[in-house]
Amino acid sequence: TDQRERQALETLVKTFKHAHFRSDTQRKAVLKVLDGKEDVFICMPTGAGKSLCYQLPAVMSTGLTLVISPLIALMQDQLEHLENLGICSETLNSKMSAEERRRVLKDLSGDKPETKLLYITPEQVDTDSFKSLAEMLMERRLGVPCIALTATAPKQVIEDIVKQLRLREPMSRFKQSVYRPNLYYEVKMKDTIGDVFEDLKIFAIKSLGGAAEKGENWDEFGCGIVYCRTRDSCEEVAAHLTRKGIPARPYHAGLKSGIREGNQIDWMAGRFPVICATISFGMGVDKSNVRFVAHWNVPKSMAGFYQESGRAGRDGKQSYCRLYYSQQDRDTVAFLIKKETSRSKKKDKDAVQELLRAAMKNFEIMISFCEEVSCRHWSISKFFGDDKPECGKSCDACKEPREIEKQLQELRRGMFA
Ligand code: ADP
Ligand code: ZN
Repeated sequence: TDQRERQALETLVKTFKHAHFRSDTQRKAVLKVLDGKEDVFICMPTGAGKSLCYQLPAVMSTGLTLVISPLIALMQDQLEHLENLGICSETLNSKMSAEERRRVLKDLSGDKPETKLLYITPEQVDTDSFKSLAEMLMERRLGVPCIALTATAPKQVIEDIVKQLRLREPMSRFKQSVYRPNLYYEVKMKDTIGDVFEDLKIFAIKSLGGAAEKGENWDEFGCGIVYCRTRDSCEEVAAHLTRKGIPARPYHAGLKSGIREGNQIDWMAGRFPVICATISFGMGVDKSNVRFVAHWNVPKSMAGFYQESGRAGRDGKQSYCRLYYSQQDRDTVAFLIKKETSRSKKKDKDAVQELLRAAMKNFEIMISFCEEVSCRHWSISKFFGDDKPECGKSCDACKEPREIEKQLQELRRGMFA
């Protein structure tokens, strides 16, 4: 097994270009899947690196790995990512040309298929053409292990999945809790702060351990991300911070790609500490010494908020996540959610209503997060179906509940004024 682990690590570095496993759960899950003896159930929060748990074993094993995934958009991302890594992966779907399809099928039915991973949708599994392909593939090898991966995990849902997929005992289960003890979570009411930019500056300095006073070697002290909803606020926040002595640059889709990528590269290299970005920033960005993540605007969903704020403290050191909240902002975001769903391409009116309801429900969870005095870590854990974590005093609601209550009262008074 030691040798197996060494080989896995080698593949991780050489093929997947990662220096180490993201977590102990990821490492153990990979090794178990590689083992190939049992069905495996893997439950990890979004962004924790589930894909690697089957992709790495797929690369190391002989033969084909079949991936059944419900979202075509996500599937396309995966295929592109694998192609960039030089891993041969294919898909079969109804939108392909007959010729493309033939090419894929020909490879799969050959003696030595080049394809390592084949992605299909659950609908495809049900088609006759797939069934005959599956029969042919499975005939070659009985007892193929099944791996199930999911992010959300209320216990009942897990049991349902196990049953529906007919996973077999004995089975290995991996569950990574969402609780991140080294992250301090807090919510600040924008309207109760006199100068919000000054407040952000102080927060940045505190998070970076006073580095701003020294004004050089930024990377030694780590760095930060400020997520903003609009391009304008990315520019505005970056300008304010820079003027106040903390070099910051924007990152958003309105910048020329050369400048945008340059800003990302320089930030990654530690040439300036703070990047003020729209949420498009961060996909694939993996910087371990992010000391703070601030949300300048309220996020649309807890899943997104968790993922974005979770970019802080990957190295396990104390880091800070602050959300600036205002009711005006809340109303703007609610309005935008309605506008975006009404513009959705779905023709079916009921489907649009369904989308809107789901989006608003997600947003309301975020609003409650901000407008209630309740442990922030617990709120996050609850959302993901985890038990109550031992927060101690690693959130504002646990550390200074009176202060938070006072802020909220001010907020409500403002609302009725
Ligand atoms: P999930 O499916 O759990 O939401 P993904 O599999 O999409 O997460 O991975 C999220 C990000 O983490 C991807 O950008 C991926 O490349 C990256 N990642 C996965 N494993 C590692 C690792 N061991 N080291 C660094 N980055 C990793
Ligand atoms: Zn708490």
